[in-house]
Amino acid sequence: MFIPTIPTPEEVLDKSFSRAKKAANKVRSSKIPRHQKSKKTEEARIKTACQVTEETFNSILEKIPKISTLNMFYQDYIDVVVGVDQFKKSLGALKWAVDLISKFENQYVFKIRRSSSEDASKVRKEAFGRLASVVYRIEDELNFLDFAKQKLRNMPTIDFKATTAVIAGFPNVGKSTLLRQLTTAEPKVADYPFTTTGIQIGHLEHKWTHFQFIDTPGLLDRPVQDMNEIELNAMVALEHLADIVFYIFDASETSGYPLESQLNLYNEIKHVFKTPIQCIFNKMDLVENIEYVNGYINQLESPLMLSASEGIGVTEIIAKMEEFDNEKKKRS
Ligand code: GDP
Repeated sequence: MFIPTIPTPEEVLDKSFSRAKKAANKVRSSKIPRHQKSKKTEEARIKTACQVTEETFNSILEKIPKISTLNMFYQDYIDVVVGVDQFKKSLGALKWAVDLISKFENQYVFKIRRSSSEDASKVRKEAFGRLASVVYRIEDELNFLDFAKQKLRNMPTIDFKATTAVIAGFPNVGKSTLLRQLTTAEPKVADYPFTTTGIQIGHLEHKWTHFQFIDTPGLLDRPVQDMNEIELNAMVALEHLADIVFYIFDASETSGYPLESQLNLYNEIKHVFKTPIQCIFNKMDLVENIEYVNGYINQLESPLMLSASEGIGVTEIIAKMEEFDNEKKKRS
């Protein structure tokens, strides 16, 4: 998500006061009568300082997209990573500051007009003090927005119109190998909460249809009961973008996970995700005891066979995706 550069209170005030100074110099060198100059100069300083601060905050508010208009996936993502409430509260604080500053800008301009020339600079100092105190009042919120900017910098770019498959299964079963086989360009890595390696997103243009494949290392690869609430939320967020889940079994068990545990994880994921799940038995080239594997294959509904590293069975997966996409289009 795009968040513009968030300045510190010092930076906001430095910019506002230096612009105010320039505005004052302009008035000073203008041709207005001498006796009016000090009041006009201070008025320009107050107006400019307040307006520059307002503009700084307004431009941040305009550039940040409204959270409630974002896709649910992004809303959940932001919630897991930085907290949506805190995010909204911080934007609310910026808005509060803008409203307050514009209010007292008018009050001080009015005050200066009624004051004597000698008092003008005192009034201006008071206005600047007030401005600085409002800007420092929202220091925590500015810090938070800057933190959010850093945290959300490498948020995944998702094509919500594409038919999307999320790839699940224990580590080393061949998920990323499959992702590479399925997609044309090198998959893009994006941050995903509580996955150290991030998620990988790959694309495939197939017969004028856009397919998207997402590999989530560290998330859909271990028993659900081992997850904390935040990880569960992160997993549920994935549900908003998955049209189908490809659950990968390592039929050879060379990854170290017995088929029994792989089946248990499959059942858990099936329980959590409301989307259809397609089972895929990978590393078929390494299988020695096919009867043993068949015992699992036969328990599942039309699983597909694959040797991802050899590229065998990949076209069948794409065909399945196509079939699924056609059904989806018919339904909608
Ligand atoms: P991930 O952790 O699930 O993403 O698994 P990887 O894609 O990194 O694969 C783990 C290891 O299994 C790698 O060394 C792959 O080369 C290997 N591998 C993946 N698929 C196959 C396969 O179909 N056959 C064989 N023999 N090795 C495979």
